[in-house]
Amino acid sequence: MNPVEIIKRKRNNSLLSREQIKYFIEGYLKGDVTEYQMSAFLMTVYFNGMNEDETFYLTEIMLNSGVIVDLDYLKMPKVDKHSTGGVGDKTSLILAPLVAACGIAVPMISGRGLGHTGGTLDKLESIPGFNVNFTIQDFKRIIAEIGVVMIGQTEELAPADKRIYALRDVTATVECIPLITSSIMSKKLAEGADALVFDVKIGHGANLPDHDQSLELAEKLISTSKKFGKKAIAILTDMEQPLGRNIGNWLEVEECIDLMNGGIVPDLYKLNNVLAGAMIFLGGKAGSIDEGEKIAEEKLMDKSAYKKFLEMVKIQNGDVGYVKDWTNLKRAKFRKEIKAKEKGFVSELVAGDLGFTAIELGCGRKKTNDKIDYLSGIILKKKCGDEVYEGEVICELYAEHEHMLEKAVSRLEGSVKVTKEKPVLKDLIIDILY
Ligand code: URA
Repeated sequence: MNPVEIIKRKRNNSLLSREQIKYFIEGYLKGDVTEYQMSAFLMTVYFNGMNEDETFYLTEIMLNSGVIVDLDYLKMPKVDKHSTGGVGDKTSLILAPLVAACGIAVPMISGRGLGHTGGTLDKLESIPGFNVNFTIQDFKRIIAEIGVVMIGQTEELAPADKRIYALRDVTATVECIPLITSSIMSKKLAEGADALVFDVKIGHGANLPDHDQSLELAEKLISTSKKFGKKAIAILTDMEQPLGRNIGNWLEVEECIDLMNGGIVPDLYKLNNVLAGAMIFLGGKAGSIDEGEKIAEEKLMDKSAYKKFLEMVKIQNGDVGYVKDWTNLKRAKFRKEIKAKEKGFVSELVAGDLGFTAIELGCGRKKTNDKIDYLSGIILKKKCGDEVYEGEVICELYAEHEHMLEKAVSRLEGSVKVTKEKPVLKDLIIDILY
């Protein structure tokens, strides 16, 4: 076998065998397959897809590129959640500690920013000192001590996804069902959870905007989970406009802290509680998702989620003082406001465009080793359906460098719309699949 032959086979739309996929992925990790060959491979998969068997082999090989953690010693339910990626999509930061506060272990392996969507790890690292790179021993110790741990892929856990994920981010090969399925499942199966909840985004800001493709992805995530003996629920949710009000790493952490302290951001609050409700249900602590949602609301209101969040920040070496100082509104140096040109209703905040704008502001990467500006981003003062007056601020942009703001403003042209009529909004929760 040789890497070029395998790329050519996929390019010519022929099926790949388990051995061919194994050779290619393992070769990449060993350095026998180069970055440019992997990039070409990913692009051929993007265009030609993979069938059910190929996707399964890819997932299994990526999973077995590292260790599968055994958490049976915990003697408690273990449930995790993963999103297919969105803009302002920050629920993991709230629901992981919240569900842990209900007596369900949450062993979470997340990712960094991917394409125009933000990443949980980048958000967590906006807290000075917060460590997302632990050994398996430490991963097991932390979850045994506090019931929750949030880390990234490592050299031991899902190493193939660690490398391929970073490459997909900068090679326009994100929006592809077999690549998303294998990426998500290789991480989630490695971490030792018994059950999984998937937040499958649909709409302009999703990695797969189209309804039917998202449905197919949701079904794949559920069937792959079941093949590996895991219970699973997929919740299809709207991603036409960003979730919540803040986009950008620290800005999103701040919004989550606010919500855990009683601040209500309606769409973020609702989605967080439905996802947490599904986790609580799968963990056997509620008889239905609705009942789980009520428990989630209580854990937010009595601040158990926030207390657990602070415990997690501390044990993962984050600066607890920095977190507790959240009301001081830390912001990047330069600020620009986008104002309504006429009176009316905000009818569009095109999520994908806002995601790319956030990258222009320094929230994400254009090359794998780009540095992130943690305090930059976008704050939506208005959401779709809100009334605005001429000259009223719709959103604020923040960046560490003035030239970034100018680029971002032109990137946003046409993506924030005001109309005379009040728009009809899509439902946030579109469907729930078991
Ligand atoms: N989340 C992942 O972990 N991988 C993807 O490909 C998309 C979302």
